[in-house]
Amino acid sequence: HRHRNLRELFDVSLTWGDRDYLVTEDRRISFAEHAVAAGALATALARRYDVGKGDRIGIYAANTPEWVIAFWAAQCLGAVAVGYNAWWTPREIAYGLEHTTPTVVIADAKRAARLADSGTGVPVLTMEQDLPALIAEYVGDIPRAEIAEDDPAVVLYTSGTTGRPKGVVHSHRNLVAVSDYHRFTDALMASFTGQPLDGPSDRRYLVTLPLFHIASLHNLVVPRLATGAAAVFPHGAFDVDRVLRLIEQERVTNWAAVPTMASRLLEHDLSGYDLSSLNALSLNSAPSSPGLQDRLRDKLSGVQVALTTSYGQTESGTAATVATPLELAADLECVGRPIIGVTVEIRDPFGAALPDGEEGEICIRSPYVMLGYWNDDAATAATIDAERWLRTGDFGTIVDGRLRISGRRTDLILRGGENVYPTEVEYALEEHPAVHESVVLGVEHPDLGQEVAAVIVADPGTVTADELRAFAAERLAYFKVPARWRITAEPLPRNASGKVVRRDVEP
Ligand code: ATP
Repeated sequence: HRHRNLRELFDVSLTWGDRDYLVTEDRRISFAEHAVAAGALATALARRYDVGKGDRIGIYAANTPEWVIAFWAAQCLGAVAVGYNAWWTPREIAYGLEHTTPTVVIADAKRAARLADSGTGVPVLTMEQDLPALIAEYVGDIPRAEIAEDDPAVVLYTSGTTGRPKGVVHSHRNLVAVSDYHRFTDALMASFTGQPLDGPSDRRYLVTLPLFHIASLHNLVVPRLATGAAAVFPHGAFDVDRVLRLIEQERVTNWAAVPTMASRLLEHDLSGYDLSSLNALSLNSAPSSPGLQDRLRDKLSGVQVALTTSYGQTESGTAATVATPLELAADLECVGRPIIGVTVEIRDPFGAALPDGEEGEICIRSPYVMLGYWNDDAATAATIDAERWLRTGDFGTIVDGRLRISGRRTDLILRGGENVYPTEVEYALEEHPAVHESVVLGVEHPDLGQEVAAVIVADPGTVTADELRAFAAERLAYFKVPARWRITAEPLPRNASGKVVRRDVEP
């Protein structure tokens, strides 16, 4: 069944009936129940709030099944779902509302209170009270909007590690393409265990990242409608014990984690959990150092799990590249090869493609790449060219077909005449057994312009700056060796996607 937009994909989900779609620690919502709820909510939004095609429906909440129901209600109407960052303060959400002007916002009780404080007059529906009442009242109907493939379906904000978050718009075509990609990989994995290629998939996907980020919404939650597989949600903030118990209880097969979750896993005693169902663990969204990957592999040596890593950004729509265990065996610092449908080129500052091995900006073309930034034609034109190549702002090299990320253009440290990418230095430091995590930053220097500084997270008394300096000097050219050191036991400041917020790190 080929579907052209998310409304048609939603119809596919009706065929999965009683199979689990959204599973939490204490709830289990089947595809059929989900479809009824989303259809009823869509009807209510149209009748009560006059939400129509192209109107925005804001979603401002922690992960919960209602988040997903609200998203699909928007798709039934041809409306645009806007996933606001649930950690935003009243000031930040006020900016978000002004930026995407939703007709109505669907929020959990905690965020509804924050919205009241933000001083905006937008109607707010709470997930705890208003949604069940509306759904009960309008059950029965599922609206069927006319939708074109290039209509916008969703706006998600970037995590804002480099400044104000940008509103990234993905079209129906983008999301259907992402979902087709997952349908293909799900079916392929199922076929290895003798399941039919076109039947439902028994894989169960753990969702440990917020739904307002692409890694969860596009990759874990939306494509499940195509294959009838379940998405499993732990409650509350990330907690290793809770997550491991849920993997055991719900027989989770796939976990897409971020490197910081992997570090927490390393500190935890895994005996006493049955993790035998887990057979795919990917590290995404931020650099995973070879040191971290090695330690994780050791830690999970008793579990038959394939460790992979991938690289992508909100703008690229889904992962652009994935490194399989085989590719990582050849090069632990790579992020692998382009996924199906993606072409990657390394370009010089004038837009010319560079040969293998030369460093330049990573540019991506694929059916997954965003339509553009919401209401910002200038930023869109600066990021996507006439042939729809996306400039990622990341630098890297391709060797033997495998991509390596050097780092973000904006993180580059300009030390005298030499450029230093923090990631390279962090990878080297994280080889040291006492180093849990590290951040390398540029700090002002009177002669050099910038000097390299390192912040090291380690247990007290386990390592000194002198030891680390000597360790780094064995691995890195002199100009990359940090001149300033701070060793701390405090965790690093991180955003909702688990990324270090560099500008908040005290050098
Ligand atoms: P903003 O654009 O607002 O600063 P952000 O870049 O953190 O926020 P995202 O789209 O969530 O927003 O992050 C994408 C970026 O994360 C990529 O451009 C890249 O720099 C980094 N990244 C993602 N995966 C990897 C990886 N495997 N290795 C190294 N860096 C990665």
